[in-house]
Amino acid sequence: MATDNSSKNSIKDSVKDVFFQPRVLVVDDEVRIQKACQRLLTEEGCDVEVAQDGIKGLKMIDEKHFDIILLDLMMPGMSGLDVLTDVKSRHPDTVVIIITGYATLEHSIETMKKGAFDFLSKPFSPTELRLVIAKAIESIRTLQDIATEKSRMRVMINTLSNGVLTTDNQQRIALANPAFLKMIGCRKTSVIGHKVFEFIKDTRLLDMIDQAIQQPANTFAEITDEIAMPFSKEDQDMIIGVRCIPFRDRLNRNLGSITVFNDITALKKIDQLKSDFVSMVAHEIKSPLNSILMQLNVVLDGLAGDLTKKQKDILQRTSERIKSLTILSGELLDLSKIESGLINQEREQLDLIELIKGQVEFYRDKADAKSILLTVKKTKKEIYMLGNRINIEEVMSNLISNAIRYSPSGGQITVWADEKSDCAKIVVSDTGFGIGQKELEHIFDRFFRVKNETTRYINGTGLGLSIVKSIVDAHHGTIEVESEIDKGSCFSIYFPRSEYKI
Ligand code: ADP
Repeated sequence: MATDNSSKNSIKDSVKDVFFQPRVLVVDDEVRIQKACQRLLTEEGCDVEVAQDGIKGLKMIDEKHFDIILLDLMMPGMSGLDVLTDVKSRHPDTVVIIITGYATLEHSIETMKKGAFDFLSKPFSPTELRLVIAKAIESIRTLQDIATEKSRMRVMINTLSNGVLTTDNQQRIALANPAFLKMIGCRKTSVIGHKVFEFIKDTRLLDMIDQAIQQPANTFAEITDEIAMPFSKEDQDMIIGVRCIPFRDRLNRNLGSITVFNDITALKKIDQLKSDFVSMVAHEIKSPLNSILMQLNVVLDGLAGDLTKKQKDILQRTSERIKSLTILSGELLDLSKIESGLINQEREQLDLIELIKGQVEFYRDKADAKSILLTVKKTKKEIYMLGNRINIEEVMSNLISNAIRYSPSGGQITVWADEKSDCAKIVVSDTGFGIGQKELEHIFDRFFRVKNETTRYINGTGLGLSIVKSIVDAHHGTIEVESEIDKGSCFSIYFPRSEYKI
């Protein structure tokens, strides 16, 4: 080795945070090289051992793990190439640096093919040795980081209570965690590499995975659904919330899909019980309320004898309160019907323009009574969606009646439908009281009502918008609202194209 005592470019200077003491083995028959390497690398903080020939070297490697091997190519007995082949087949993580006096191109290609990390041509300087060792440590550290990350991810995914399934873009299983295997009642552990349809029979789920893999590079959509699966014989009524997304490389090419399975059976059951309870109570209240109302009207109409003005006033107020209760029980019934999935039953092709016009005409008198200008903005002649007529009419009716109720006299309400690239859009925009930013977050919550000076005298149940949201959700749509106090509100609904294409 040529002399060069410069302490610049020490390994510690070149490699940030060397967090392990590198174990180095020098396999060289030249004692001079052995000693020089050992001295320099020990000074640099490495744990260095030496071997005079290949056979001894291999023996040492078998007894103890070395991170780096400095290997002479030309040695008596076993050649460096044979040692390299042996080391790489049994200890692939070990970094082998070839020391050679004959660094010809053929040699280099051959050793590189056999897995050598780099070369040092004799004679080499201490700086060259430090540099190549620093490079090797950097590479070991990167590999260790990747291995640590991989093992951390594996532990995390394997301990998740949610099922996780990933596939490559040929629908072959790349990862299936224990929770997923349990959900599908699969006791086999060797599912990796098999096609998903060998284990999953649910066509909707297979479809979701296919859709995720086929998703074009310019879109990235999470495909979600609730799937009732008799996945396994023990879990006949399992309901699983499924979310499926594609995963991509840097060039945005689809490499496969990731699907997460969330067992929501218990939640669904509680929700169903709650809905059943609400609908039972609402139903039980509705008929007695109607009969009270009818009898009150008999008294109010004077059919049971004359009333004083005071008695009439009290009965009038009672009648108003009962009417509000009837509306509340009706809305509760609607909500529980929607939640129990009835609304998905009958869907037809609806012309949104015609539907909007019908609803606007229905509310014309109410708007006129408050001198509100209620108009339908012209867009297209017809816009179709696949939906339940009664429900979509209910959505429009709630939004338009809210716009009228929460606008001062002289306001303006504009309603329109339009087609966006992959959606049918419905908008109801008003110049009314508006909603504060804080309240906007809760606007679709059940029973939520904005309480302020302008709204306190307006009767309502706080259920209208949650009914709207449930209907939109059941049609796989989304609803957005923009609003500013004293400027007005704008509700926009988007229904996905696939939902209105027949
Ligand atoms: P309700 O009108 O019966 O109270 P909703 O669920 O329809 O129930 O509406 C919830 C609340 O949202 C209302 O109390 C009202 O304060 C507010 N809101 C709804 N629509 C509008 C609107 N167009 N402009 C201003 N406020 C609105």
